[in-house]
Formats: sequence, structure tokens, C-alpha cells
Amino acid sequence: MALARARAVAVLGVEGHLVEVEADLADGLPRLTLIGLPDTALHESRDRIRAAVVNSGHKWPDRRITLGLFPATLPKAGSGFDLAMAVAVLSAAAVVPPESLLRRVFIGELALDGRVRAVRGVLPAVLKAAAAGVERVVVPAANAAEAALVPGARVEPAIDLAGVLSVLRGEAAAPEVTAPPPTAPTPAEVPGLDLADVAGQTRGRLAVEVAAAGGHHLFMQGPPGSGKTMLADRLPGLLPMLDTDASLEVTAVHSVAGLLPSNAPLVTRPPYRSPHHSATPAALIGSGSAVIRPGLASQAHRGILFLDEAPEFNRQSLDALRQPLESGTIEVARARATARFPARFQLVLAANPCPCAKARGPRGTGCECPSLVRRRYLARLSGPLLDRIDIQVALSA
Ligand SMILES: [Zn+2]
Repeated sequence: MALARARAVAVLGVEGHLVEVEADLADGLPRLTLIGLPDTALHESRDRIRAAVVNSGHKWPDRRITLGLFPATLPKAGSGFDLAMAVAVLSAAAVVPPESLLRRVFIGELALDGRVRAVRGVLPAVLKAAAAGVERVVVPAANAAEAALVPGARVEPAIDLAGVLSVLRGEAAAPEVTAPPPTAPTPAEVPGLDLADVAGQTRGRLAVEVAAAGGHHLFMQGPPGSGKTMLADRLPGLLPMLDTDASLEVTAVHSVAGLLPSNAPLVTRPPYRSPHHSATPAALIGSGSAVIRPGLASQAHRGILFLDEAPEFNRQSLDALRQPLESGTIEVARARATARFPARFQLVLAANPCPCAKARGPRGTGCECPSLVRRRYLARLSGPLLDRIDIQVALSA
């Protein structure tokens, strides 16, 4: 009998939890058993790690193999445990020395040919590993720049399983992390929109400036063409860059959502999300069964959530925003787990005064709907939602 241990990290919401991966090799009919609440993806990883080991030039042990992931009560999902499972098996089979696994955590999905594939949630995983005092983190090469954002983390980028095994056997040094300086904002993040582009509309510009300065929620009402969207689009450009802590918080959400570019992973500008009015509650607050992903409200954390034509959103979607507006967090509960995401965003609502989307004009040229229709339309924005909005401004055409 041979036993080996490796460590990995499970990410629930935006929080990492250390996972102990144990591999036990015993005599008996060759087979692989997984224990510790694995989901379907983990069962598939059985075939992936076996193929990856063989295609990396190593023999798959013809023994009765038991792989356990602990604590068993912690929900584990996704493919990020492949690498830890493979090195645990190979350590139990005496391919790599057990002490080489002690001071490391292993994060990554294995392709059948042995390449290590990028996974989501590397930043929160490495934050956890560093906080727990783990010396080195082995992560997919594509996630290495993201992992290196964590102060004090010693990152070992993994290109393929064979490369990881050479490092563990002391035959090669780990590759360096090659990435541009993480503080440079990507071109897409540099605000290019300026309030100076908005002609007239002094009231609207003042409202946007006050909202930006004080972090207030904002409701703009006005006929089509009055510049509501133009004004909202320019609000992020007025906000200051995120400080270090806020950057890491926002980057962690984007990491779990799978939205980080691998070359410039740090989010330094306040994010801006503008969902269509057909957005479902799940799209806004987060969804998923095995792995729970943050929705648009969380992706707008420390930035702007803009709902254009707000009365057109369905009631459930608008009501779903009440929890984050009250608490700054969103909880998504599933059968086996509850994920918590930060969602402290600035809400900007825009609405036409009437469902016909025309301005009141001279007789026969504009909206002639009865005032009851107009009142009912705006009443779709429920009281509890509008009560939280400090600045409400009516724009003229
Ligand atoms: Zn009308």
C-alpha cells in the first residue's frame, strides 16, 4: 500500500478553500475510485488524468487506486483539481518524491495530451494559498500573470504535466512568469468618453457629476434622444481608478466569471455593465448548478450597473437587485452550496416617460397617451427600488 497527498484549492463564490487530495495505491483489480463529493466533471477527470499521465510518458499504475478529496463536506466542482490528482497518484507510485508536494498547491485542468489548461478563479485560489502560508503555487501558464498579482505568492507556471514532473523531480527549474507590469490598464479600460461630448443638457450633466462625486444611485427620466444613455456611458470616466484592495476584489469576481484577459489580468478601472432589458434574474445575480458564476450585478461591483429602459425589465429581475442594494452582496443558493459574491455597485436607471417612447409635442406630433398610461409605466419601477435612488432627474428633449 502507498499513500500520497497533494493540495489544491476549491473556489466557492469568490472564496478559496484548501482541499487535500489523497491518493492510495493498493493491491487488487486495477481501477480508480473517487471519493469526497465529486460532481460529474470530477468523474470525467478520471479519464483525463489517466490519459495525461500516459501521454506524458509515464506508466499508469495498474493497481487499485483510491483518490479522495477532503474535506468531504466542501462542495467541489470543475476541472481545476486534475493536476493535484495526477501528481498525488504519481507520488504514490514513487514517480515524484512526496516531499516535493508538501510546500505547493496545484491548480489546473489536464488535457488528454498532458497540457495544463487554464481554469477560472485562479486569483481567489492563490489568495487563499498565500494566506494559508503555502510557499509555491503551480498554476496553468495562461493564468500565471493573474496568480502573480497576489503579494508574496511564488508562482510556478505549468505548461504541461511532463514539465511539472521534471520540476518536482528536481530535473528542471520552474519557468519564469512572463507578463507585462500588472498595473498598466488595457486600452479597453482607458476611459475614452467625455462629458464634454454631451451638448446642452446642463441638468443631466450636473446630475451625473454629483452621482460620480458622491457615489449616489441615479434615475434619469426623459424622452428618447435626450441623452440618457450618452450621460450614463460617461459616468465611469468620471470615477477614480480602483485602489489596490478594490482592484483585487473586482479582479477576483472577473476571474471566477472567466472574463480576465491573460496578458493584463488586473482590473484597475471601475467596471461598467449595461444589461439588456430582457436580462433574467439569473443573468443579473448569478447562476449555475455545479459551479456558480457571478451575474452582471456582481460583475459591476465597485462600478456602474446601468439599466436602460428600466421599466421594460421584468419585475423579478428588478426585485433581484434589492438584496445587493441593501447589503452589497449577493447570495446564490443551490442544493449543495451557497455562493456569496460582492455586489456594491452604483445603480443608474433610465426611462422614457411613456411606453410609446415619444415626447409630448404639439398636438398630433407626439405622445398623446392618457396620463394614467404614463403613470402606470413608471410605476413598474417598484417603490422599494426607487426609494434607494438619491438623485432623480427629468431631462427635456
Ligand atoms: Zn405615450
